[in-house]
Amino acid sequence: MKLSLSWEVQRITTKFEFKIARSAESYYDVVIVKISDGEHTGYGEAAPNKRYHDSKDLVLQYLESMTADITALSVEDSQVRQAALEALFPDSYALQASLDMAFWDLYGKRLDKPLHDIFGAGTDLPVSSYTIGISELDMIPVKLEEATPYPILKIKLGTPNDQAIMDTIRKHTDKVIRVDANEGWKTVDEAKRHIEWLAGENVEFIEQPMPADQLDDIAKLHDWSPLPVVADENSVRPEDVPALAGVYHGINIKLMKCGGLTNARKMIALAQKYGMDLMMGCMVESSVGISAAAQLGGFMRWLDLDGNVLIANDPYVGVGNEAGKLILGNEPGMGVRPR
Ligand SMILES: [Mg+2]
Repeated sequence: MKLSLSWEVQRITTKFEFKIARSAESYYDVVIVKISDGEHTGYGEAAPNKRYHDSKDLVLQYLESMTADITALSVEDSQVRQAALEALFPDSYALQASLDMAFWDLYGKRLDKPLHDIFGAGTDLPVSSYTIGISELDMIPVKLEEATPYPILKIKLGTPNDQAIMDTIRKHTDKVIRVDANEGWKTVDEAKRHIEWLAGENVEFIEQPMPADQLDDIAKLHDWSPLPVVADENSVRPEDVPALAGVYHGINIKLMKCGGLTNARKMIALAQKYGMDLMMGCMVESSVGISAAAQLGGFMRWLDLDGNVLIANDPYVGVGNEAGKLILGNEPGMGVRPR
């Protein structure tokens, strides 16, 4: 069956300006791709991230110039397809992810099975956190109010203002908090000082405390740390994982970094082999990308799949989110459709 490819750009607007240690944005342009065989259509999403030198323009340029190469790829053989996607689009992880997702979605629809079933991940997912970006202190109560239904918060630190941000939050709530420093602490001493203090603040783990290129320093936290330390900017592709054993306690997998579901499954297998904990995260994404990631959620210890609930104008409907509990249906593929 001959495949056809189409795509659309969607500007998704965040409910609040989304600020982390290195950037601040109030909207993101994502690219939704659709691969159809005439009977079924598979959906995928590219949410390109500047941290990984990716962009919407690069994604669109590739889609326009390489359409025939994409529609020639295999629906059934994900390994061969992934190798081809990496050779065709070596510098756009988000495009790799979107196409891999769309092919998997199409595959699931052809088999009339949900992907979580095909992957053996099931529908019993851990509760996802809800992210609070770095805020002016007077905005924190407003953001906490918005987060009321969610029992677990993820807080972005790694700023000169960490203590004041945390103190302000703790004046309003005693909820479990996961801290993401986004590479913001620059020395082992600084990281240790923060982690020691946060361990007494009902914090569950620390994500990417220090810059990704300081792996030797981060390794010094491994045996010492009172809290699990989880790799994010260090845990990009499957080939990154072996070097993280003994450095981090867990890895944060994101489809937009690793190149899609096929590579995410490889990272899961590697982390299990090395005895590391698993977390699934996301960028700011619509329900297409979040529903794809949720198909593997049953394998995770921690979930941070809130990208679609941080936005005000989600163009798609897919996995549900009831107070952080992700609800997967039994529709074939990823179970997404236009809103
Ligand atoms: Mg992170």
